[in-house]
Amino acid sequence: MRQMVVGNWKMHGLSAASRDLVGAIADGLGAIPSPPQVVVCPPFTQLALLAPILKGSGIALGAQDCHQAPMGAHTGDVSAPMLAELGVEYVILGHSERRRDHGELDETVREKAQAAMAAGLTPIVCVGENGDQKAAGEDRDAIGWQIKGSLPDGFSGIVAYEPVWAIGSGVPASRQDIADMMGFIRAELVRQFGAAGKTMRILYGGSVNARDAASILPIAEVGGALVGTASLQAETFLPIVRAA
Ligand code: PGA
Repeated sequence: MRQMVVGNWKMHGLSAASRDLVGAIADGLGAIPSPPQVVVCPPFTQLALLAPILKGSGIALGAQDCHQAPMGAHTGDVSAPMLAELGVEYVILGHSERRRDHGELDETVREKAQAAMAAGLTPIVCVGENGDQKAAGEDRDAIGWQIKGSLPDGFSGIVAYEPVWAIGSGVPASRQDIADMMGFIRAELVRQFGAAGKTMRILYGGSVNARDAASILPIAEVGGALVGTASLQAETFLPIVRAA
């Protein structure tokens, strides 16, 4: 399976900078003989601007959240069909920053994933233990519960393993930690989804940078990277794409 590199821009990107960034990524991608699947996830406000620019570029468009309802009285929210209409193909769901800032629970994430699939989007569902859970040796339990709670029946999407303590820290989890948790997540996916769980893509996220990408991406079961900080500049994002 071809690797995938997903850029999570979070709350970064006014129009000019967003246009420049995807332009530079597209240029860089053109020079890579067999590039991985690249996805950029800008803020909602840049999706309509970037969709036509990305057409035919080899870069797919993703969003960072969607509501669980297709429409309705939900002030400030954006639904999955609205994203699909713009040409969005992927949507990050249950990121730890949404769980933290918006109190999103596994159940909400599961409903959102269902809504995304119904609209033809591919959900990228994030799971990850926090520092306390890791210190207490409860990381596997935490991930097991999140997988059980956040992925709907018939899930067809991507799981991103993002240890919360590694996000934005500048230091990714160790190769050993990533390998251990990837094996655990794969086993959980197979237990929950049978044969479909064997081929579900699992991404690693949490301070993936140009330096460490080359040693993280070849770890067994790692199907790509979810990149935050390093996705905001072509100079730091493209080396990760090249390593994939
Ligand atoms: P980071 O963010 O690469 O800056 O750690 C990753 C993420 O939160 O998706």
